[in-house]
Amino acid sequence: MGARKVLIVEDEAPIRRMIAFNLTRAGFDVEEAPDCTTARTLIADGRPDLVLVDWMLPDSSGLELMRTLRRDESSRDLPIIMLTARAEERDKLTGLEGGADDYITKPFSARELLARINALLRRASPPDDVVLVAGELCIDTVGCRVRVGDHQVNLGPTEYRLLRFLMQNQERVFTRSQLLDQVWGRNVYIEERTVDVHVRRLRQALEPSGGARYVQTVRGTGYRLSVR
Ligand code: CA
Repeated sequence: MGARKVLIVEDEAPIRRMIAFNLTRAGFDVEEAPDCTTARTLIADGRPDLVLVDWMLPDSSGLELMRTLRRDESSRDLPIIMLTARAEERDKLTGLEGGADDYITKPFSARELLARINALLRRASPPDDVVLVAGELCIDTVGCRVRVGDHQVNLGPTEYRLLRFLMQNQERVFTRSQLLDQVWGRNVYIEERTVDVHVRRLRQALEPSGGARYVQTVRGTGYRLSVR
């Protein structure tokens, strides 16, 4: 996978830009939202790896945003750090009980923020599964080997990444644009049709061993990997 993506939800532009600047310099992909509505849209568009949420926001509170994210299946386990000027113990507890994984009080240094982000990302992402299995499909992600039953399958690098991503997210439907973000990377400009080309190649490679049936087209939406 490419750079980790952090969404900064903060209405105070100077603070938001300062954080964005430091995170970009540290190698993160950064998205910025000045309010909860924008944040929800960005999260629905392409799930970030971590969200920094300010407490006081213009349209709703960061706490409320966090609660709605925790209620939704797709964002229930999203790592969240609350940013706030409220230093009181009681408020920290409210934030943590509301679903924050960590809490950082303004003013904070870039170094402290980065340390918290890295620590949370390490906690939040257990080591990738070494072997992914879906029906007869099997990927050894260490050796980058793909098998269907006993048949070894040779894939190009893009088809491999595409298959691995779909297998890591089995039964979930992805639009072409989501696949571009996740497999090709957000900052790459590629036409959505490119996804179709690589899905076709992937199926062709899997076809002789009977594995193409797992890579399914969902009409009007996109693709999914399913054993059903
Ligand atoms: Ca604020």
